[in-house]
This record gives sequence, structure tokens and C-alpha cells, in this order.
Amino acid sequence: MKRIGIVGGGQLARMLALAGRPLGLEFSAIDPAPDACAGAVARLIVAEYGDASALARLAVECDVVTYEFENLSAKALDGLSAAVPVRPGTRSLLTSQDRLVEKSLFGSIGLPTAPHRPVDNPADLEKALRTLGCPAILKTRRLGYDGKGQALIRAPEDARMAWASVAGDRSTSDLILEGFVRFRSEVSQISCRGADGSLVHYPLTENAHAGGILRRSIPLSPTVAAPWAGQARAAMERLMLELGHVGNLCIEFFVTADGLVANEMAPRVHNSGHWSLDGGGVSQFENHVRAVAGLPLGNPEPSRPVLMVNLIGSMPDPMKVLSLPFVRLHDYAKEPRGGRKVGHLNILPPPGVDPRACLAAVAPLVSEETSAAILSPMLGEG
Ligand code: AMP
Repeated sequence: MKRIGIVGGGQLARMLALAGRPLGLEFSAIDPAPDACAGAVARLIVAEYGDASALARLAVECDVVTYEFENLSAKALDGLSAAVPVRPGTRSLLTSQDRLVEKSLFGSIGLPTAPHRPVDNPADLEKALRTLGCPAILKTRRLGYDGKGQALIRAPEDARMAWASVAGDRSTSDLILEGFVRFRSEVSQISCRGADGSLVHYPLTENAHAGGILRRSIPLSPTVAAPWAGQARAAMERLMLELGHVGNLCIEFFVTADGLVANEMAPRVHNSGHWSLDGGGVSQFENHVRAVAGLPLGNPEPSRPVLMVNLIGSMPDPMKVLSLPFVRLHDYAKEPRGGRKVGHLNILPPPGVDPRACLAAVAPLVSEETSAAILSPMLGEG
């Protein structure tokens, strides 16, 4: 195994390549942007993700192909997987592309989800609203991410506006209506399955969002995670087997009074696992690379407290943030732009120091966009 192909050349591909280079592996990545940030550490093929000749080139020059995002068409994937192993495989990718398929699979393995109904037209929406009640959330089944392609319906009279905001002026569309889950917090489980079927679990991680963007992730201590860790790991084991998955898989959950409710899955490395680069265990990026390359997996357990803050819109002054001894800076070398993830900070609270005190020291040094929600309440506090 010498070269791994990645569909997508953003920061996830960049961090995969950075993790794989010490193992002697090389990388090629497809991305339509000539300045895609993985280009600094991978051979960049500038083309649309589904471009047949670019995918054919990836298949020829690589021993195995993986992807950093889910929006690869089934047709492109079929062509690619006929020519080169693609890990994770087609079933994982196709499941994650459709919220309805995803929820049906969760249900079939006994994993609770929000109550939901497929919605194809405004009449379906009215009927589904009568069944599920308000509030409810109307979402696109495909190609939605970070809260885009969805609308909250607080009362039945919001239905028309919600349809228009999600489906535009189309009279039919593939949508899903979800009942509103009253949750205490949002957590994610990232696990990695090797080509030999071995499985490692990262700790359950608490995620704080603002404006539909992940802001802060904290892997929970075994004590804080105890009420939910067993449910998350058991779900992951069933799902990995069912999908025949190889590589990283992330399931995002709502924490409710009745336990975890699954929201969605991502068959790849995930933003809520970026803390693993500095937690002392083998990172999610290295384990994903090891899995797709057929290598043994490493211990994912962090050896010290760690948490992650996403840098949104613009980078802070490195002279300032790096003067804090507990900060590790990850700069994706991307052009600054409002709402864009341009880097992250991993924060390693020294023994006896409250993580909140570290976050409070960081907050004045980062942009306002970045500091949103980083001081929000945490599970296990108070
Ligand atoms: P998603 O695109 O499904 O990840 O949704 C984005 C965010 O919207 C989630 O992180 C939740 O905060 C919220 N959300 C999504 N679905 C629901 C739901 N059924 N009930 C309550 N909140 C939701």
C-alpha cells in the first residue's frame, strides 16, 4: 500500500494526509478548487468530484480510495469502486446520503430516532404535521449539512413558508419531516473499524453548535459518559457490522431523558473528533488511514483532558494564542470567509485547571464568530 486517494481536498483530506505521511503513505486528492488546502500535502487533481476522468486517474494512481465528505454521486462511486477498493464502501456512503434511509437503518438495529415521515409535496407535509405535531423540522433528505436545507415549523401555519424555504418553488421534492426532539445536549460517537473487523471507540464527545456550525467539542470522561457510553458503542457495533464498514464512522445523537436518540451518521473522519490530534491517543485521522490501508488500528483513548474549539471565519493572531501554554493551533491555510471553518484550537487543560478557565482565556483572543457558544454549559457541570 503506497498511495491513498481522497475524494475532496479540504481540511479533512489535509489532516488525513498529514496523519498518513509518517506511515510512509502518499496521497492524491480530487477537488475543484485549485487552492484546496489538502494540496499542500497531497497530489491535487483539480476537477469536479464526480468528474469521470479525474476519478479514473485516482483509480489508476492509488491503491485504495476514501472520501472526506458524503456527496459523491452513486454513479461516480460505482465507476470508481469497479476499478479500485473504496473504503468505507458503497452501502455506508449511500445510507449517509439520505436521511430517510439512514433513519430506517437506525430503526432496524433498534436505535431510537426522532419520529419522522417522508414528505414529497405540500399535501404530504400537512398530513405529516397532523401526525407528528408541532414543533417539527422539515429537512431535505439529501445534500443537507450543518443545518442547511431545513426549516423549523413552530405552528401549522408556518408550513407553507417552510416548504418554500426548503423546496423553493418546486411542487414536489424529497423531504423529511422530523418531530422536534427535546434534548439536553448533543453528543457524537466516533469509532473506527479495521479491514480485519477489529473495532476501536473514541470517547463519547459533547458538541456545542451555534448558527448550525459546530463550535466546541469535548470528549467526556468515563464517569460523565457512563449513562450513554454503552448504548453508543453497542449501536456502533451493530451498524458497522450491518454496513460492512471499514474506516471511521460518526453517529451524532441527542441526549434525552430516555437515553440517546440518533440524528445522523457520517462515514468518515468528523469535526467532533479533531481533539484526538492532541489527546495523546492515536488520532481519528491516523486510525482512518490505517483502516483503509489495511493496517492494525491504534489505541484511541486520550491520555489527558482535551477539548476543541473551531476557528470560524478568520484565524486568531498565532503570537497571542500560542502564548497560552495549553493551546495547540491547527491552521488549515484557507482563505478567511464568514462562516468558514479555517482552523481549530485544541486545548489541553493542565492538571487541576478548570477547562472553563482555559476557554475564558482563549475567548478574547479569537474572533466574535469563533467565540460564540464556546463558553456554553457542559455535561457534568454543576
Ligand atoms: P442536522 O443537519 O440534522 O445535523 O441538524 C442541525 C441541528 O439542528 C442539530 O445539530 C440540532 O441542534 C438541530 N436539530 C436537527 N434535528 C432536530 C430534531 N429532530 N429535533 C431537535 N433539534 C434538531
